[in-house]
Amino acid sequence: MNLADYIKTELPKWPNWLTVPLLKLNVFGPLVYGKEYKKILTHIDDGDPEKKLCDIVNFSIANVPYYRKRYKGLSIRSIAEFEREINFIDKDEVMAHWDEFQADGANLLRSVTGTTGGTSGKPLKLVLPQNRYAHSMAFWHKELEWFGWHYDARAVIRNHHLPEKRNYMINPILREIIFDAFRMSAPYAKRCLHTMKIYGVKYLHAYPSAAYQFLKLCHRQSLDTSFIRLCILTSEGVTNEQRFFIENELHIKIYSSYGHSEKLIMAGNCPHSSLYHIEENYGYCELVNTAGKVIKNAREAGELVGTTFINRLMPLIRYRTGDFSSYADSSCNVHGKKYRYLNGVQGRREKSLIYKADGTTTSLTALNLHGKVYEHIDGLQYAQTKKGELTVRIIRNESFSAEDELFLLHFHQEAMGAEAKINIQYVDRLEYQPNGKFLPLISTLNN
Ligand SMILES: [Zn+2]
Repeated sequence: MNLADYIKTELPKWPNWLTVPLLKLNVFGPLVYGKEYKKILTHIDDGDPEKKLCDIVNFSIANVPYYRKRYKGLSIRSIAEFEREINFIDKDEVMAHWDEFQADGANLLRSVTGTTGGTSGKPLKLVLPQNRYAHSMAFWHKELEWFGWHYDARAVIRNHHLPEKRNYMINPILREIIFDAFRMSAPYAKRCLHTMKIYGVKYLHAYPSAAYQFLKLCHRQSLDTSFIRLCILTSEGVTNEQRFFIENELHIKIYSSYGHSEKLIMAGNCPHSSLYHIEENYGYCELVNTAGKVIKNAREAGELVGTTFINRLMPLIRYRTGDFSSYADSSCNVHGKKYRYLNGVQGRREKSLIYKADGTTTSLTALNLHGKVYEHIDGLQYAQTKKGELTVRIIRNESFSAEDELFLLHFHQEAMGAEAKINIQYVDRLEYQPNGKFLPLISTLNN
């Protein structure tokens, strides 16, 4: 295990009496992340993405068997040529030719292997450069600084299971107070919030569903959450209901970003706009429609396709991510033309389809309720096991009324068509994946 991994996973296991004083010291700041990180951060917006793209493609044709076989002798000089000459790949293609994607003489000692997560399907094994953290951290921190964050401590509610006797763990180097997402209850939420307050922690870093659950429990107990400055929401999309509650009811800002384990594309929002600002120097980002044509227009939905700028051990070029988005038709008031902007990102398309009785589909985005109903519920999840039947799981709160039920029935009937059967199911808890992640739609039809 190298030092970075030790710091990430082992250090928090130290007892709190040892880590608390270290946390308070806060002398490390950016130094913690190393020289490479510092260098990337200093030059983060420098350089020409088109040149970086051509460099990695030409490097790969010369040094990686998979690309050499297909493009031998080709050298590209522009994005236009890239679009014309280079084909798309996806996870299946990479898995089928895994060995050929390894660059000649790649020094595996300076690499780590990671597997892509994902809620279904086979994981993809990736070879990544050891400095992968430095690269993605630098871009992530650059965007967090937009919100005034400067290596401040964060409360973390993600996928950690804590030993029974510990209410929280501390990572003094990464400045994290780590809570147990699997133990969230009213008393535990109260304790977490209290702990945040004691340590003066103003940043909450969580899965959107975990942040929502935690903050709802605080809200229900009339606890003061106004000291929380920012919710950093990653790894899942933020649903409309979650956004409404956090931004409009609690008045806490949200930073959410799109990233994926292949580490090819990164984009996040800023305090002035909820659009995702594409980080052009992180990797090359494209949107492609079902016909395989590159999308340049706003509003047309397509698949996100990414190309690495930094991984010379196992470079992925024009890799279809399986995630979907569209370009925004407006831009951020502050960042203006410096960025291209994406509307929110949807997870793997096949996972978010809802089937009507006639076999046609609708998507989760189409089922966007209005604010008032969100105020009356503490959770919402869809389930589908049969075409034309939709179960709407609802956690009611005390302001929920018969009127809301009627509204929900009508709304979903309208969206699903007259022949559809809508079941409203009242539950105390929504269903989570074994890895602790939340899916807004649980469907047996999408596999
Ligand atoms: Zn902006």
